[in-house]
Amino acid sequence: MMGDRDFRSIIKNAIDSIGKELEIDIDASDYKTIHLQEVVQCLRRSYYDRTDSKEVERRGFNDLTSGLLRKLEYGSEPKIFEIDDIKLKGQSDMILDDIIILFRSSKEIPEAPQANDLLYLNACLWIYDKPDGMIIYITSEREEFTFSLTRDKKMFEEVIRRVRVLNDLLNEQKTPILEPSLSCLDCQYYQRCFISKKSSKQLSLAEMLGLSKEN
Ligand code: SF4
Repeated sequence: MMGDRDFRSIIKNAIDSIGKELEIDIDASDYKTIHLQEVVQCLRRSYYDRTDSKEVERRGFNDLTSGLLRKLEYGSEPKIFEIDDIKLKGQSDMILDDIIILFRSSKEIPEAPQANDLLYLNACLWIYDKPDGMIIYITSEREEFTFSLTRDKKMFEEVIRRVRVLNDLLNEQKTPILEPSLSCLDCQYYQRCFISKKSSKQLSLAEMLGLSKEN
């Protein structure tokens, strides 16, 4: 009988299982290989993922688009960019006619691309040595928004700097500083970062983002 089944938890379990299959395979103890995904998101989150991880809560099938494409035949092979003795490993969702393409799900048509998606795409352009790329945002209503990018050296240098910082902090076992942003609201480490154990005091989003109450 349909009423006897907890369909919500069945769907959640299915999404979690597929999500795990599609996750980028990161060897947590290999500090000399840093994955591009790790440095375009908050470094503290990536550090916790390697040293004391907590499972992420997946919200729906929409979040799995990019991982699915990487696993299918359209996906390009992962590629390494050497930075001295550190390997930066990246993978685009698709390469078509020499153009790197990323697919991202979005609740609504965005006014501009997300900063971390731009960093990811730009780094892929350098890793695969291609001049141009695009990000395609897809909403649950199947609307699309496409943003094109020509590769930029300064932006890639910022990614390289973050690769070195994450590698240093992992070697020294030092937790990276907070990088407050709206991503904190969906982050599985939110409590660890923003709720003090002693007082259970929760910081407001304005405090998280460093905005004073007067502002
Ligand atoms: S809650 Fe925010 S600052 Fe803390 S790890 Fe997550 S994204 Fe980073």
